[in-house]
Amino acid sequence: MNGSNRIMERALTEARAAAARGEVPVGAVIVLDGEVLASAGNRTRELNDVTAHAEILAIREASAKLGSERLINADLYVTLEPCAMCAAAISFARIRRLYYGAEDPKGGGVDHGGRFYAQPTCHHAPEVYSGIAERQAASILKEFFANRR
Ligand SMILES: [Zn+2]
Repeated sequence: MNGSNRIMERALTEARAAAARGEVPVGAVIVLDGEVLASAGNRTRELNDVTAHAEILAIREASAKLGSERLINADLYVTLEPCAMCAAAISFARIRRLYYGAEDPKGGGVDHGGRFYAQPTCHHAPEVYSGIAERQAASILKEFFANRR
């Protein structure tokens, strides 16, 4: 198992914990210089906050820890393709690399929908690596929505 899969495993653990709380199971981890700065799962229901996506919560935690609004040289791992809001936040935080698991053709904003990083109005685009532990990430989501029906 290589390094990025190990960190994605931690994001998957956050996603499973989110599912156990009744939240859409998405987890995110931010790493800087090989060290985990922050990890979070979705908490939109718990916090009554549509912006409480895993990526946003992890960015807030990492920024607070570093005392900086910018997370230069940090990498973000997330189990699902980020939505437009999170794609923008990742850009604003100047995150270096984005690793994501499952694609999200319905709600993604990186390789689907608005394709935020491909727009001329985007001033910082991270390097994007998709399909990291994709099968596990997708099956957690699939199971969650199947159980809700
Ligand atoms: Zn999002």
